[in-house]
Amino acid sequence: MSEKIRVRFAPSPTGYLHVGGLRTALYNFLFAKQNGGTFILRIEDTDRTRYVEGAIENLIKSLKWANIEFDESPNVGGNYGPYIQSERLHIYKKYVDELLEKKFAYKCFCSEERLDVMRKEMEKLKISPKYDRKCLHLLEEEIQKKLNSSLPYVVRMKIPENTTIKFNDIIRGDVEFLSDRIDEQIILKSDGYPTYHLANVVDDHLMEITHVIRGEEWLSSVPKHILLYQYFGWEIPKMAHLPLLLNFDRSKLSKRQGDVAVEDYIAKGFLKEALINFVAFLGWNPGDEREIFSLDELIKEFSLEKVHKAGAIFNLEKLMWMNKQHIMKKSDEELVKFVSAILNNESFSFDYINNVVRLMKERVNTINEFITFSNYFFESPKFFDEKSKEKNWTSQTQNHILFLINKFENLNNFSYDEIETSIKSTSNNFQISTGKIIHPVRLALTGVGMGPSLYELIEVLGKTEVISRLKNALKILP
Ligand code: GLU
Repeated sequence: MSEKIRVRFAPSPTGYLHVGGLRTALYNFLFAKQNGGTFILRIEDTDRTRYVEGAIENLIKSLKWANIEFDESPNVGGNYGPYIQSERLHIYKKYVDELLEKKFAYKCFCSEERLDVMRKEMEKLKISPKYDRKCLHLLEEEIQKKLNSSLPYVVRMKIPENTTIKFNDIIRGDVEFLSDRIDEQIILKSDGYPTYHLANVVDDHLMEITHVIRGEEWLSSVPKHILLYQYFGWEIPKMAHLPLLLNFDRSKLSKRQGDVAVEDYIAKGFLKEALINFVAFLGWNPGDEREIFSLDELIKEFSLEKVHKAGAIFNLEKLMWMNKQHIMKKSDEELVKFVSAILNNESFSFDYINNVVRLMKERVNTINEFITFSNYFFESPKFFDEKSKEKNWTSQTQNHILFLINKFENLNNFSYDEIETSIKSTSNNFQISTGKIIHPVRLALTGVGMGPSLYELIEVLGKTEVISRLKNALKILP
């Protein structure tokens, strides 16, 4: 019988959902869905110094926005809960006691000051800082004495000497670590909280996780985890470490070079379909030319084996392009809903926004650009582009526009055809090309030199607005 796949996303609630976190969650989700497995959300909040109020809710909200849903989580519940580590302290305590009992761990009473001095000395000698095992050699009665005087202590795990710790990673193949380089890690802090390593291993075991899929930054933790699994006599889950996310200059993806929070991309008007499609490609591709995938298509096509080792470059231009492709796939009606939500101005009707969407759909990369690029649909221009002014606004323009206003005022339908005829008859009247009318009129109506078809734009803005803007431009532009 094949095993039932169980995977988890195990974020620490440090504020927001990082795009790298979204990718980890997505790969776990895709892997679970395509294998009929279970996808679990576990909150790893044992580092109380990094805890941020509201962060769990934020994480869950951003994942829900992306349609990444969990089968078991703090909200949904499940048979393996609680799913928040700070609610599982009593469980870890038991396992720490077991390791102490089996002598795979020991109490350490060293003060912060001592550890600081020790670290500095090691740095001076250019050896990578590692606990010097002073407390490993304490005698039973010394330990008892310290405990009796209520000296605070931590628990450290033992690391065997001269051992090579090996494992096979689904993405990276065989990986080896030398035990001598590994610090005797604290597994229980003096505040009674376990550290990441212990809680992570205990929970992955108790929650029957079959595959650990997470970022490469956790690779160096694996030998400690393997030792813990061995100390407990537990089966080690399969592991897959996802490639690092890099900035364009190949440095590690950082806030300094752009947005890293999923919320920032939501706020900038990216569609969830595009962001998901984009992060899916940060480390994976289907092996052919196809680039636009829906979540369902990803579930069918994604393969953990095809994830590559090399760091994945976070290319914002590519994200823009993907967003554009997904915008084009949306119905106008759906786009109107998105634009209305951002615009949040009831004076513009559904039909009006629908017209804007129809005219601008092929010109924007994000939902927000429907408003920022074509702001003139929602307010009359306050500034006029200097270049366009120089190029298109001549000493004759005032006369041309006055003539056109008069034509427009006499129109009954203000339809595309009527608008076109009015502009053509204006240019005929002055014996000039239609371009000599079109460019200054666009400048007067929009403030800029480029945009969608002018006749359609005029039709959408409507007679009253167009005439008022033309008159206003005549006052401002010489
Ligand atoms: N709590 C870790 C994080 O914040 C989880 C790493 C893991 O998946 O083991 O990413």
